[in-house]
Amino acid sequence: MSDSPDSAVRAFIEGHRAAFLDDLVEWLRIPSVSAEPARAGDVRRSAEWLVAKLAGTGFPTAEIWETGGAPAVFAEWPSGDPDAPTVLVYGHHDVQPAAREDGWHTEPFEPVIKDGRMYGRGAADDKGQVLFHTLGVRAHLAVTGRTAPAVNLKMLIEGEEESGSAHFADLVRANADRLACDTVIVSDTGMWSEDTPTVCTGMRGLTDCQIDLYGPDQDIHSGTFGGAVPNPATEAARLVAGLHDEDRRVAIPGFYDGVVELTDHERELFAQLPFDEKRWLRTAHSHAALGEAGSTVLERIWARPTAEVNGMSGGYQGPGGKTIVPSSAQLKLSFRLVAGQDADAVQRAVRQWVADRLPEGIRHEITFWGATRPCLTPLDHPYLQSVVRSMERAFEQKILFTREGGAGPAADLQDVLGVPVLFLGISVPSDGWHAPNEKVELDLLMKGVETAAHLWADLAETGRAR
Ligand SMILES: [Zn+2]
Repeated sequence: MSDSPDSAVRAFIEGHRAAFLDDLVEWLRIPSVSAEPARAGDVRRSAEWLVAKLAGTGFPTAEIWETGGAPAVFAEWPSGDPDAPTVLVYGHHDVQPAAREDGWHTEPFEPVIKDGRMYGRGAADDKGQVLFHTLGVRAHLAVTGRTAPAVNLKMLIEGEEESGSAHFADLVRANADRLACDTVIVSDTGMWSEDTPTVCTGMRGLTDCQIDLYGPDQDIHSGTFGGAVPNPATEAARLVAGLHDEDRRVAIPGFYDGVVELTDHERELFAQLPFDEKRWLRTAHSHAALGEAGSTVLERIWARPTAEVNGMSGGYQGPGGKTIVPSSAQLKLSFRLVAGQDADAVQRAVRQWVADRLPEGIRHEITFWGATRPCLTPLDHPYLQSVVRSMERAFEQKILFTREGGAGPAADLQDVLGVPVLFLGISVPSDGWHAPNEKVELDLLMKGVETAAHLWADLAETGRAR
């Protein structure tokens, strides 16, 4: 690694910064709110805008992909080198709803640059982070003297991520051939903070269910029958009470089967993050931290599977008393999954656990709403190392690692395409995703451009790992 390509990249980006920001302002003015049917035309306009921008950037293929819902955008730029790896960049061009009266200081769809930040809905989530790839690839070409990227570059930019990605898995499955790649780069995430650049290495998975418990055929008198027949509300509570053991580990037999444990090295790296529990508790709106024994807060939310009671109901909820044995009760449970866990096996384990614990006379039904698989890229994966190196060159700082506790459509890409998912995001927690006054830090945005500019050459050198 020499200094000169890095400063050449920096100079190129600096020279194009103003025009790039103008582009972003133009795109942010299109209110592509996928959740609002009245904005469907704007979501389409946003897709068309992006197609034109990608074509103008040099992508020989840039087109709209229709879905059962909002349109996605696909673009492709072959390297021309038969040995080049193929990379698919994922992001989304739709945004969360926003209205001035929600507490915005400026018009959400009239971007404003102030104090090194651009304010506007979608500035960070996700238009800014999609757009940095356009200037990134141009800087890559300018500095390497290439006419096509060093990798076969594909982009898939979804149009309904903010309204649940209902058609995304189908879209990926239907187009798996054209999306085939060696790795996916997700640019829809963030870093630890402005001062602590990080790479996210994985996301937890999720499966959730509703358990309906039925006892007597109708509510019955608790004096006449209570104490002599099974009570579904009591049984629901017994299930919940048995969900965790004394160490607050999930007590469902088989739940932890296959779990990829954190290595000592990973725990050390997590511990290097400047985590402030008091501050974190404020963002959690909680009064204390509590979870599985033997794990830190970050380990619990990033790397440990969990079982959570989302809701429980049953019996009489009205004013005053009503002395009954209710006829039914209901639980809603969710399970966060980590790498190595199989969502189907977890669902089977939950079914077995419930069936084993309920007494005769309680009938039950379990409905699983679905499953999102976890994804995790090992720290020593060569492609992940490429991302880290590229970020280090851009940020001139050591890069640490985070994970994401939530689940996302990235897992669909991993599942269908069967490749590792990497995350390249420069957003920070203060950016206000989904909140009023969303912004992006312009310096970080340009670091994103810079990272993208280094990444394609580095990945090409790392070569095909498949
Ligand atoms: Zn997003």
